[in-house]
Amino acid sequence: MLKVLFSAKPAAWDEYETPLTRAFEAAGLQVDLARDHAPSDVDYIVFAPNGPVTDFTPCVKTKAVMSLWAGVETVVGNHTLTQPLARMVDHGLTRGMVEWVVGHTMRHHLGMDTHILGQDGVWRLDYPPLAEARPVTILGLGALGEACGQALNTLGFPVTGWSRNPKDVSGIKCLHGEAGLTEALTGAQVVILLLPSTPATENTLNADRLALLAKGAFIINPGRGPLIDDDALLAALDNDQIGHATLDVFRVEPLPTDHPYWAHPKVTVTPHIASTTRPDTAAQIIAQNIKRGEDGLPFLHLVDRNAGY
Ligand code: NDP
Repeated sequence: MLKVLFSAKPAAWDEYETPLTRAFEAAGLQVDLARDHAPSDVDYIVFAPNGPVTDFTPCVKTKAVMSLWAGVETVVGNHTLTQPLARMVDHGLTRGMVEWVVGHTMRHHLGMDTHILGQDGVWRLDYPPLAEARPVTILGLGALGEACGQALNTLGFPVTGWSRNPKDVSGIKCLHGEAGLTEALTGAQVVILLLPSTPATENTLNADRLALLAKGAFIINPGRGPLIDDDALLAALDNDQIGHATLDVFRVEPLPTDHPYWAHPKVTVTPHIASTTRPDTAAQIIAQNIKRGEDGLPFLHLVDRNAGY
């Protein structure tokens, strides 16, 4: 019987207990799932950074830690965590992000605000261009960036993606490295940030790089707050280099009420809701990954501790 410790915020237990129990059974695993196992007895930990476990030193039997979150920046530097750490790659999380990104891209592409907010009796014949005339760049071509890029390409957008390593993704022009970043940003009309937060990605969108974009470009950030130099973005919004920024993530969350983003007429703030891990599908991923470990197979979606994601 495997002992699996569930360490997330208390409300998450109500959402996950039944899906995890069912998924373990479906995977043929005999599991004692609980929130109060002694750390020294635990085989696996289902983990969120807002749960009770912060020191992994006593977890001497633990074979792997399964994160419920895709972003691991708050745990990757924990020196007590010596066990393998798997991040969350979940069908529900991915499809939710695709829907959010496509929705906000289409809002800007079609100029919906003009018609929804501007009900002022003016008959405006301002046709939007076709998607094929609107170059979109996605920074980060991982589980989420790739799926969003392919969905946007299916709608007709020419999509360029940027990653750390060379990639080959159908429907996306893939670039990497510093020169690749300059090429990816030059002339882009929509930029979507789906990079992880690491020392290497901080301020990826700075003043110099914002200046490469097409005048009036749209920024959509569901990645992480530190990816953007906030002062540079505010300046670029004020001088019309950037037309609008839709921001879901921030350096400080919740975004402080006096932050200039709240009141800025060209900024949309959403409260870190672009997507979330869905218990039914995520439970299956965790169960399958634990099954792999028990069968002697390598775990999927392992975090590269040196790269930070
Ligand atoms: P992945 O780890 O699958 O993908 C990360 C991508 O970023 C990869 O393509 C990677 O390159 C690239 N990358 C990382 N570092 C660099 C770098 N220094 N230079 C260039 N490219 C880099 O992550 P996911 O797609 O699953 O998630 C992305 C992020 O989305 C998460 O880290 C999280 O911060 C955020 N997120 C936000 C949510 C929200 O609700 N707002 C919900 C879920 C996630 P390579 O392919 O070469 O490794």
